[in-house]
Amino acid sequence: MKKHNFNAGPSILPREVIENTAKAILDFNGSGLSLMEISHRAKDFQPVVDEAVALFKELLNIPEGYSVLFLGGGASLEFCMVPYNFLEKKAAYLNTGVWAKKAMKEAKAFGEVVEVASSAEATYTYIPKDYTIPADADYFHITTNNTIYGTEIKEDLDSPVPVIADMSSDIFSRPIDVSKYICIYGGAQKNLAPAGVTFVIVKNEAVGKVSRYIPTMLNYQTHIDGGSMFNTPPVVPIYAALQTLRWIKEQGGVKEMERRAIEKAEMLYGEIDRNKMFVGTVANKEDRSRMNICFVMAPEYKELEADFLKFATERGMVGIKGHRSVGGFRASCYNALPKESVQALIDCMKEFEALHA
Ligand SMILES: *Cc1c(COP(=O)(O)O)cnc(C)c1O
Repeated sequence: MKKHNFNAGPSILPREVIENTAKAILDFNGSGLSLMEISHRAKDFQPVVDEAVALFKELLNIPEGYSVLFLGGGASLEFCMVPYNFLEKKAAYLNTGVWAKKAMKEAKAFGEVVEVASSAEATYTYIPKDYTIPADADYFHITTNNTIYGTEIKEDLDSPVPVIADMSSDIFSRPIDVSKYICIYGGAQKNLAPAGVTFVIVKNEAVGKVSRYIPTMLNYQTHIDGGSMFNTPPVVPIYAALQTLRWIKEQGGVKEMERRAIEKAEMLYGEIDRNKMFVGTVANKEDRSRMNICFVMAPEYKELEADFLKFATERGMVGIKGHRSVGGFRASCYNALPKESVQALIDCMKEFEALHA
C-alpha cells in the first residue's frame, strides 16, 4: 500500500534526494569510497558545501553581507547561540508556542527578556498581533511557523529592532525578505534534509557586538571565518540538503514551493471546514499554517477520534496524530509532500463522514 507521509519532523523528503544520497553513501562521485568515509576537507567535498551555500543564497535571494552556515546542535542549540551572540542587555520575544518558550528560557540566562505578547492562554491557536516591541531591545525573536499548533507568520514583519527568526519548519516554503532579519535559523529535518544539520543565515556585521566572551564553538564568527568547516560538519545531512536545494531549484524555486503549499493547504482546510465531523483548531484564516494543518473531531463526534486515526492509518496515512499537547490530528504538508497525498487524506475524511455522519 502506498504510504502518505504526513510526519511533522523528521519528515518527508523528495524521493530523488533520498536516492542520490543513498548512492553517494555507497560511492561518492565515483571515488570508490563512501561519503561517510572521506574527509570533510577532501577536495571533492568542499564543492558540496560551496554549492549548498550558493543555492541557499540564490533561492532565498540573500543579499550581500550575509553568511550561510551549516552547524550541529539543532534549532535547540540556536536558542542559546542567538542570545549568546546578540543579547547585550534586553531582547524581545513573541511567545507563539513551545519552541518560542524554549528560546525565551535560554535567552533569560543572558539578559532581560521581554515577552511582547503570548497566545498561551488559548493553547497558542492564534498569532498575537497587537504588541509593542521595545525600541531599546537588541533584537526581536519570532518563530515563523509553530509546528505543534499549526499557526504561521507568513509575512516578514516590520520591527524597530533587528528581527531574528526560527524558521525550522517553513524555510523554503515562500520567498522571504532576508534583509529584514539579522539571523534566520532552523533544524533541517522539517523541510530540507535529514536531522543532524542546522542552517543559520546571519548578517555578518551584526556579529561581534556583545561584550561577553563567547565559547569558540558557540560564536557565529568562528563558523563565518571557517566556512562551516571549523570542525567536522555533518557531511551526510549537508549532502542531502544540497540534493533538496537542487530539487527546489529544478521545480521552480521558492515561489513555486509557495504556490504548491497554498494549493495543498487550501484543499485540506477546505475539507476540514466543509466536513461536519472535523474542526480546524486555528480559527483565524490568516494565522493558519500551510505546513502543519491541525484539526480535531467536532464535539459531537469526539468519541470517534481513535476510529478515524485507525481508518486513515489503514488507508496509508502516516503521522497524522496530533501533538500530545493539542490532540486530534496534524497533517504536515511540507514541500516534498505531493498533492496526491493531501487528496488521499481528504478522500479518507469524506469516506469516514459518509460512514458515520
Ligand atoms: C522542530 C523544531 C525545533 C527543534 O529543532 P531541533 O533541531 O530538534 O532542535 C525548533 N523550532 C521549531 C519551529 C521546530 O519545528
